[in-house]
Amino acid sequence: MQPAQELVKICPPHRGVRLGMTTRRSFLGGALLGVVVAPAGAQTRVPSTLRDSVRAAMPLVVLDPGHGGADPGAIGGQGTEEKRIVLAVAQELRRRLEGSGRCRVAMTRSSDVFVPLRSRVEFARQRDAALLLSIHADSAPSGMGGRARGASIYTLGETASDAFSAALARRENLADQAGGLRLPSVTADVQRILLSMMRSETRQGSERVARATLSALAEGVPLLSNPHRRAGFVVLKAPDVPSALVEIGFLSHPEDELMLRRPAWRTRIAGALAEGVIAYLGRRVAT
Ligand SMILES: [Zn+2]
Repeated sequence: MQPAQELVKICPPHRGVRLGMTTRRSFLGGALLGVVVAPAGAQTRVPSTLRDSVRAAMPLVVLDPGHGGADPGAIGGQGTEEKRIVLAVAQELRRRLEGSGRCRVAMTRSSDVFVPLRSRVEFARQRDAALLLSIHADSAPSGMGGRARGASIYTLGETASDAFSAALARRENLADQAGGLRLPSVTADVQRILLSMMRSETRQGSERVARATLSALAEGVPLLSNPHRRAGFVVLKAPDVPSALVEIGFLSHPEDELMLRRPAWRTRIAGALAEGVIAYLGRRVAT
């Protein structure tokens, strides 16, 4: 079943009127994309059943398992490929989130295929996602924290919080081209104001999801020192979708690799991530 795709047909993103719920972000998103906000009373297709209506009102979480296809990501000493581990965690996380009944879920990839980084960002933006959560597992080169282990969360930073984070972002971005974001055809002043408002709101959301996820992970998963880090990952650059990137452990560390190979351990990580995401969504609705 692919509920997200089904929903997209019912409710195209950035229409301005979204089944009676126009969020500030979707309004700004519509304005930025040069889309006219429909006037009150405009024709809007509505779901045919109450259940569809309730589902449509639920926020959409986009899960983004890193790498895929010809890009294996990091490779552990035992030959464990990052692309496989992170897909397994994302699929378990999807099951848990959908089972919670608190959100809809879509994935940037659900099989072993390569997806360009900017396409992952656009995937979330086009669906007006409430959150984009990228899932990775890292490998630290010897000399740059070769003994590093544990999970960490990244949010977007203009300047990387440390040399380690900068090197990591460079490696993760290498598989793709970084570039400017799609910008609308409005005057430069309007664009600047809207972007500034939107980025500020998005940044606050990203920080909140990082805090919620880290506190859930801390209950049962070893964390890297200073586990909330900042770097310029391409997948964190959506101006209108709160985004975070979780590194679930280090394939370069023998014990981390051993644990990440175990389905039970991946289930534990997915459970903690689900808890963090649900806590974030709860606060998002409350504020
Ligand atoms: Zn990665």
